[in-house]
Amino acid sequence: MTAIGIAGVTGRMGKALVAAVLEQDDLRLAGGSVREGSPLAGTSIPGPDGTSTGLYALDDANALFAASDVVIDFTSPEATRNHLHLAMETGTALVLGTTGLGDDVDADILAASHKCPLLRAANFSLGVTVLMALVKRAAQALGPSFDIEILEMHHHHKVDAPSGTALALGEVAAKARGVRLSDVSDAVRDGHTGPRRADAIGFATLRGGDVAGEHSVIFAGMGERLELSHRASDRAIFARGAVTAAKWLKNQTAGLYTMSDCLGLDT
Ligand code: NAD
Repeated sequence: MTAIGIAGVTGRMGKALVAAVLEQDDLRLAGGSVREGSPLAGTSIPGPDGTSTGLYALDDANALFAASDVVIDFTSPEATRNHLHLAMETGTALVLGTTGLGDDVDADILAASHKCPLLRAANFSLGVTVLMALVKRAAQALGPSFDIEILEMHHHHKVDAPSGTALALGEVAAKARGVRLSDVSDAVRDGHTGPRRADAIGFATLRGGDVAGEHSVIFAGMGERLELSHRASDRAIFARGAVTAAKWLKNQTAGLYTMSDCLGLDT
């Protein structure tokens, strides 16, 4: 039995993760954490059908790491930074789903990956993992004469933009063109912007309702347009993907892995 700890257990993804862990016979829910001082600390962690899991939400991340073979983190950038340090200290495998981390966390991720197995994905769905591979091929095959624009839509609670998945798709496209995304990214257009920069990778962000996550990568050429799209209708797909990643990660040595590594896909 692999013991899975869920950081951010009361969040939207936290609840979906509890359900995804409980539906697997070879997994045990080791516990779940909430922010220190949260009023939800000490309350019962409910199962998917409202039944009790017999576990109580901890506001002590140290205790969660001590109890778990693998911790799954879908929380906030500040919490993730702390979880990276705990993973490094304890050697506990860590699945990282939190987005909007910022470049300054990259050094912490790299340092932790020397001490414990880490898997980071901006999107844990099988469809988006395959989409990444398709975007790479399309960007290479179509070449720089096609303009690349990335459109995403998420629910109205989402706090970071563009989404981590949109940025990851942009990274794949930029790498396929042999450029750095930070040099060609055009994420905000407002007012008199002038004509489109020829090598730009543009982003457009929509927010509203309960949309779980939609992404389109548009390759716009002269007289033709290729669009590759993915639509998530249920966040359970991210949770199941993260649980698949956790099971796989438990058997890996220290290092930084992707969802493509876990699924054996060549991206
Ligand atoms: P949410 O706001 O519903 O949940 C986040 C939870 O983390 C909250 O309950 C919050 O209280 C908790 N939290 C904050 N600090 C904490 C701490 N120090 N310790 C423990 N818990 C803490 O948000 P959500 O929709 O569940 O999304 C969470 C993150 O996951 C976001 O960054 C989102 O973009 C990302 N996400 C990633 C994927 C993916 O496939 N990689 C999919 C969906 C969401």
